[in-house]
Amino acid sequence: MRDMAQQGKIDLSIVDEIDLVFGKDAVDEVEPYNVKLTTNKWKCSVCGYVYEGDTPPASCPICDSDMDQFELMD
Ligand SMILES: [Zn+2]
Repeated sequence: MRDMAQQGKIDLSIVDEIDLVFGKDAVDEVEPYNVKLTTNKWKCSVCGYVYEGDTPPASCPICDSDMDQFELMD
């Protein structure tokens, strides 16, 4: 029984280490792509509504202004 318990602990510790290593690698690889994929923010100059996307919406869903009323935010 003691030997089996010890084997179980050893196996679990190895699995935990592998999870930690792969977890860190996965996060390091994913984060840069997320930053590149960040979309633009467009603010309606009439009502202040903020829309997220590559291009502004055809019309503001709040005040129905045209897309040329949207200003690109930093
Ligand atoms: Zn608006």
